[in-house]
Amino acid sequence: MTEANAPVTQDVLTIPRKLPETGKVNLVGLTREQLRDALIEAGTPEKQAKMRLGQVWQWIYYWGVRDFAQMTNLSKDYRALLTEKFEIGLPEIVTRQVSEDGTRKYLLRIAGGHEVETVYIPEEGRGTLCVSSQVGCTLTCTFCHTGTQKLVRNLTAGEIVGQVLVARDDLGEWPEPGQPKPEERLVSNVVLMGMGEPLYNFDNVRDAMQVVMDGEGISLSRRRITLSTSGVVPMIARAAEEIGCLLAISFHATTNETRDKLVPINKKWNIAELLQALRDYPRLSNSERITFEYVMLKGVNDSDDDARRLVKLIRGIPAKINLIPFNEWPGAPYQRSDWERIEAFADIIYKAGYASPIRTPRGEDIMAACGQLKSATERARKSKAQIAAEAGL
Ligand code: SAH
Ligand code: SF4
Repeated sequence: MTEANAPVTQDVLTIPRKLPETGKVNLVGLTREQLRDALIEAGTPEKQAKMRLGQVWQWIYYWGVRDFAQMTNLSKDYRALLTEKFEIGLPEIVTRQVSEDGTRKYLLRIAGGHEVETVYIPEEGRGTLCVSSQVGCTLTCTFCHTGTQKLVRNLTAGEIVGQVLVARDDLGEWPEPGQPKPEERLVSNVVLMGMGEPLYNFDNVRDAMQVVMDGEGISLSRRRITLSTSGVVPMIARAAEEIGCLLAISFHATTNETRDKLVPINKKWNIAELLQALRDYPRLSNSERITFEYVMLKGVNDSDDDARRLVKLIRGIPAKINLIPFNEWPGAPYQRSDWERIEAFADIIYKAGYASPIRTPRGEDIMAACGQLKSATERARKSKAQIAAEAGL
C-alpha cells in the first residue's frame, strides 16, 4: 500500500439489517421503497401495500410510535403480523450527559456492541443535532479525537435515522394527538459532523437523510441538513444530486504541505482538486453557500498570511468561513490559538467580504465539542508520541 492512499483505506463493514438478536427486520431507516418491499414480503397484499406503507410510515416517523400495537388504524391481525416479522429498533442509550450550557451528549450502543456519540446543541430559536455516520473514522486527521479510534464500521441507515429518533424521544418532540403542532422545532437542524466521514458511507447516509426529509414524517427540509466532509472529492457532487443538502468542508489549511499533515486525505485529493469540485458543486448559490470549517491551531495554521491565502483560494465560491477554536482532548498534539489571534484572523476574512463566525465551543465540559467524540468501545489511545509522530511534529 502506498503512503498516499493509506489514510483512505475503507476496510469497514456495515452490519446486516437482519439482526441476529431477534431475527426480526428493523423497519427504521428503510427507504419508502424498501419498506414497501418488506411489507409485501411479510404477506401484505400488493394492492394494499401503498396504503399500508403510508400508515406505518406515519406512525413511526410522524407520531413517533415504537410499538405496532399502538397503530390503531391497522387491523388486529395485521398488527400481529407486523409484530411477528418486524421491529422498530433504536440504538440503546448507554449514557446521556447534559452540559452546563444545555448541550446533550448521548453515547449510544448499536448492533455488535459498538458505540457512537450524538450531540444535541440547543440554541436561540433552533436546535442542532450532530449525527455520527461511522463508528470511528478511517481518516486520521491529526487534530481529531475520532481519528485516533482504531475500530471503524459504517453505520446502517437505521442507525443514522435512529440517532434522530432517540434525540426526539429524549426531548419529547413528537406531536400529541389533538394538540396543535408547536411552532418551534427542538431538532430543527441536522449536521453530519459527528464521528466518521459521511461520504465514505454515502448510500446509508443518503437513505437516512431521505427518511429524515420525508414530508410525511420528520419532514426536515434539505436546507436544514449540512453534510461535513474532509474532502472526498469524487463523492461531493453526489451529495448535492442525491441528498440536496448543504455542504461544509473541513478545510483547515491553506497550503498542501500543512493540509497533508492536518487532513491526510489531502494527499489523495489536494487543495486545487478540492476547490475545483466545490466550484462545480451542483447546488452552489448565494443562498446555499458552502461552509469552510477552519480549526484554529496555535502556530500551525493561524497566521495573517494563512488568512490572506484562504480568502484568495476560495475567491468566487459563495462561502462562509467557520472558525473553530481547537477543542483539546487528552494527548492532543496541538493547542488552541490565542483569542486575539483568532480575532485578527477573523478580521482579515471579514474585511475580504466573508462572514467569519467564530464557533463557540459547546458542551466542552462533557467532551461533546467538535472533534472530541470518541466512543468507549475503543478507549485504548495511541500514545502522545505516536500521535505527534504521525502529525509530523
Ligand atoms: N469527518 C467529517 C465530519 C466530522 S468532523 C469531517 O471531517 O468534515 C466535524 C468538524 O469538526 C470537522 O470540520 C473537523 O475537522 C472538526 N474537528 C475535528 N476535531 C476537532 C477539534 N479537536 N477541535 C475543533 N474541531 C475539530
Ligand atoms: Fe475523520 Fe472528520 Fe475526524 Fe478527519 S476530522 S478524522 S475525517 S471525523
